[in-house]
Amino acid sequence: MALTGDLFIGRGRQHTSRQFKAVNPARGVALEPAFSAASDAEVEAACALAQAAFDPYRMPPPERRADFLEAIAQQILEQGEALLERAHLETGLPAARLAGERARTVGQLRLFAAELRTGEWLGLRVDPALPDRKPAPRPDLRQRRIPCGPVAVFGASNFPLAFSVAGGDSAAALAAGCPILVKGHPAHPGTSEWVARAIVAAAAQTDMPEGVFSLLNGPDNALGAALVRDPRIRAVAFTGSRAGGLALMQIAAGRAEPIPVFAEMSSVNPVVLLPAALAGQAAELAQGFVGSLALGVGQFCTNPGIVLALEGEGLQQFIDAAAAAVNALNPAVMLTKGIHSAYDRGVERMAAQGARLLARGPESSARNCARAALFSVAGAGLLEHPGLAEETFGPASLIVRCAAIEELRAILERFEGQLTATLHMQAADQELAQELLPTLERKAGRIIVNSWPTGVEVCHAMVHGGPFPATADGRSTSVGTLAIDRFLRPVCYQGFPDALLPAELRATGLPGWPHRFDGERRLSGPG
Ligand code: NAP
Repeated sequence: MALTGDLFIGRGRQHTSRQFKAVNPARGVALEPAFSAASDAEVEAACALAQAAFDPYRMPPPERRADFLEAIAQQILEQGEALLERAHLETGLPAARLAGERARTVGQLRLFAAELRTGEWLGLRVDPALPDRKPAPRPDLRQRRIPCGPVAVFGASNFPLAFSVAGGDSAAALAAGCPILVKGHPAHPGTSEWVARAIVAAAAQTDMPEGVFSLLNGPDNALGAALVRDPRIRAVAFTGSRAGGLALMQIAAGRAEPIPVFAEMSSVNPVVLLPAALAGQAAELAQGFVGSLALGVGQFCTNPGIVLALEGEGLQQFIDAAAAAVNALNPAVMLTKGIHSAYDRGVERMAAQGARLLARGPESSARNCARAALFSVAGAGLLEHPGLAEETFGPASLIVRCAAIEELRAILERFEGQLTATLHMQAADQELAQELLPTLERKAGRIIVNSWPTGVEVCHAMVHGGPFPATADGRSTSVGTLAIDRFLRPVCYQGFPDALLPAELRATGLPGWPHRFDGERRLSGPG
């Protein structure tokens, strides 16, 4: 079945006269078909449907939503090679990476389905009435969490499947009980259409209300801004540039009724190589580092953009081995022309701020190909040019040569919020690691020992978040089951007759769900 280029508004499809095309980044040619761009009228229609779908979607037992998420996963798999082929054409990402990303996408939808069935996310708490309490009786108080309302999800350029139309943000919001309006990324509208078809088919199969999902496309900022301004949108999920995330946060904060924006923006993911680790395994560490740096042409938010270590023989060995590996890295195509030119500008900016170029991948005449770049700077140089610690999105990294541990610690203290911070250490480094830990905890959402920051496990304990500007709100995560919390809020039911309570808080419902009863954790209710 060929792509149509239509917008998906509830169950309907919409064709508009303003259109745009995806561009194959490897060849620089426009891809057919043309895609309709949404205007205010389509935003209005999609938001109205989402609002109408909210109660019918959230009220039935959570099991229904779990079935929906599993059906989406299955429908995505049934699209077979057509989805992956289009994603490859639109992003330049290799087939194996895209197959892996599809598996992750399907896996996270299923994980959220399983999470729904556990009921942990409901956050049930019961404080039973104490009618005889003196001096005043206590009423019966029961708490559960409900979804916040329709969520605007911005598809990310660098994860056309796992953080796009049916990606992590969509899975978390749908699991919570929120209808979603996806603003597709303009770089991969065909991939978005394939996935939208899967969601629409799954919604029909599991009898979901119309408006639980819409996909709006557009080639410029106006669409995203209109969505965030719409009073029916209750939260925003975004992965992309710092400028884009900040713009959306500002729009959201300026609304008559402000809403949260969960934006994942920029991070350089500092890696600290401690002395004993460097002494024993400099060359091996260099191989691991360059592998992580080059992964996905450096287009991962957890790319290791800065490495810090103490001056010495071990660091020099690491630098030599890493430089040799970077010199040998073949240039590879980036996601878009814009991302490629932003990368080249970033590399020039690093050089202009006094960083010394240690290695550069070979020249290439191929279109939009990034040449990896490795720089170094003395610790004092970084403190003098703090701009060097800003993200250059792509396969570029900076090695910081620190004169003493105090300087290293001072540099870490100056860093902005990060998604990750990594320590490479041996047993002999334990004391130093212990000293750095309080700083790293304040700076990062995930602290890693003896591996590399790329490769984000989708599971219960993962945190893919961190203080600003890594994310807009460091209290949450965008990967893993905890991501559902972003779209829930607690409601307390006081003095309710049993029959009026939500099913899971009634005397017969409570035993089926994990809850706290009078402060005590229980897997079954008072019976
Ligand atoms: P982007 O420019 O931030 O765009 C992401 C999405 O947000 C697009 O749908 C875009 O819509 C929308 N958007 C951006 N600015 C907006 C605004 N002011 N108002 C309303 N909507 C807005 O990110 P990108 O296109 O993926 O890549 C550009 C740069 O972002 C990269 O070079 C890189 O530096 C950074 N990036 C970082 C990460 C990370 O994980 N750290 C990931 C991806 C990208 P339109 O394009 O339709 O305007």
